[in-house]
Amino acid sequence: MQTSIINRIREGLLEKKETLEHWQVATPESQKEIELGSCDEALVDTELDIIDTSLEKMDEGAYGICEICHEAVDSELLQMDFTATVCLGHYTETELRQLESELELSQVIQRALLPQHVPTIARYDIAAFSRPAQIVTGDYFDFLQFEDGTRGFVVGDVSGHGVSAGMLMTSLQTVFHTLTPETDSPVDVLKRINRLYIHNINFTTFVTIFFAKLEPLTRMLSYANAGHNSPLVYRRSTKEVIWLKPTGAAIGLMEDNRLHEETIQLMEGDILLLYTDGVTESFASQENEQFGYSRLAEVLQQHEDLSATELTHKLRQSLSDFTGGSLPVDDITIVVCKVN
Ligand SMILES: [Zn+2]
Repeated sequence: MQTSIINRIREGLLEKKETLEHWQVATPESQKEIELGSCDEALVDTELDIIDTSLEKMDEGAYGICEICHEAVDSELLQMDFTATVCLGHYTETELRQLESELELSQVIQRALLPQHVPTIARYDIAAFSRPAQIVTGDYFDFLQFEDGTRGFVVGDVSGHGVSAGMLMTSLQTVFHTLTPETDSPVDVLKRINRLYIHNINFTTFVTIFFAKLEPLTRMLSYANAGHNSPLVYRRSTKEVIWLKPTGAAIGLMEDNRLHEETIQLMEGDILLLYTDGVTESFASQENEQFGYSRLAEVLQQHEDLSATELTHKLRQSLSDFTGGSLPVDDITIVVCKVN
């Protein structure tokens, strides 16, 4: 195998290792809990062990050699999954087909824009707002359609900012649009995306994603939350605030991501709010204080009569009042869905 390819994989792995090690020491415990969801932090160590094993094999000159025939493993395969240890010739028909579809997906990276319109769903009032802190955004929100025709709502946040985060967000958009129409399950999509990205050497960062499916008639909302800041449902009838907590770890953080799906029965008058951490982590101009979760819930409680669009404006205004009008340091995304 060409040394240049192995060197490139080595660089990617070293970068990924650094990202994970930095995450271990620099992420506050409270944020770790969110991004890990129901997973154990020890699994991040396991992920680091897998990377180290590959790096050791490189040092020994054993990396990229097929365990069955001792020929070189296909370089395209290694670039997609750095842990590959047998060459393509030994794969079964089924394994080959699955690999082909994943290869196609990982290659389909295109420039795409965030949605320009919100979907029209009878008896639901929907509005969205997204503003990047820099020219490109690492925030992702979208409205998708499942195989059965129902709508999906997604909000995601790529760690880091700027061009690299923006490029990853763009590839996510493509993958979401490819995978969602093939299934009726949000957790299926997130699990496949995690598999696609976890061992890809180009994936040196991770992303938190909340993905929900709405059954408009029964008002059932099923969702999977990969380490994303908990969206909230404000129940107007009881003034209750329900947080839709993570149901698994952030995408790209670890292979053994025990993501699962949960459901919530929405009621007439409920307000569903999706957002990224740029909202809750906006700082007040003078004090060292963040906007936080309770202020977010308060805005909904105090303005429950407003339309989704008006609520979005009100949230932006509250945020701007709180920060004293200073420019946001992080990307900000808000999606509001009211059940009428
Ligand atoms: Zn072989």
